[in-house]
Amino acid sequence: MAFPKFSSITCQIGIRTFSLSSRVFNTAGPSLALSDEQCEIQATARKFAREEIIPVAAHHDRTGEYPWEILKKARELGLINYFIPEHCGGHGLSVFTTSLLNEELSYGCSGICLAIEGSNLGQIPLVLRGNQEQQKKYLGRLIEEPLLAACAVTEPSAGSDVSGIKTKAVKKGDEYILNGQKMWITNGGLANWYFVLARTAEDPKTPPSKAFTGFIVEVKIYLS
Ligand SMILES: Cc1cc2nc3c(=O)[nH]c(=O)nc-3n(C[C@H](O)[C@H](O)[C@H](O)COP(=O)(O)OP(=O)(O)OC[C@H]3O[C@@H](n4cnc5c(N)ncnc54)[C@H](O)[C@@H]3O)c2cc1C
Repeated sequence: MAFPKFSSITCQIGIRTFSLSSRVFNTAGPSLALSDEQCEIQATARKFAREEIIPVAAHHDRTGEYPWEILKKARELGLINYFIPEHCGGHGLSVFTTSLLNEELSYGCSGICLAIEGSNLGQIPLVLRGNQEQQKKYLGRLIEEPLLAACAVTEPSAGSDVSGIKTKAVKKGDEYILNGQKMWITNGGLANWYFVLARTAEDPKTPPSKAFTGFIVEVKIYLS
């Protein structure tokens, strides 16, 4: 358990005042202080935002250039791909720790932070529900090489209302054929693979919880 940053706390309840030393506080209940690891991650992300993101943020806003160089540097420092579990070579950080990290990166530039987050968004369904083979293949690849993932859920007719998705996946032999339209996909056109949500139920009365399937769609580029 993490130790609080202060050495003693004075609590006042009604007319009773008492002191708790950090040791007593620590054994008496949960601590809300950040762990040493969380402080280190927060400080690294803050330094990265100040030194690497802020100086070029306006340039990327003006030109619309994708911040590849920043993402490569962020990758070297472990500031990207942070949900990937340890058995795939990642850090498997918690949602709370990654929120601390994103708070710092967004202080540098929320758009550049979103480019990083877009890849993580595509990874999350695999982290949560992918089998070991899928995780090793697709998440492991992102650890080994500077590649991105993306999450393709939103459509012209489906934003907050995800059950409005019209993209269909139809099984033909051993393969699925996906047909539809996605929009606002962060890292769209740049990602190596996509998490794509599509409708697989033919019956329109199928409840939303059973009507959709998540697909991993790999991008293959052939040189002509
Ligand atoms: C910068 C950016 C990056 C994005 N990246 C991705 C991505 O990588 N992948 C992806 O799939 N999508 C992405 N999106 C799309 C995003 O997920 C959608 O914008 C979001 O789901 C909301 O959908 P919408 O914009 O169609 O708004 P709508 O769903 O049309 O909502 C419009 C407004 O109505 C409100 N509203 C909606 N339903 C209700 C309700 N039932 N009750 C009360 N209020 C309601 C909403 O809160 C909102 O204020 C991105 C969007 C942005 C802006």
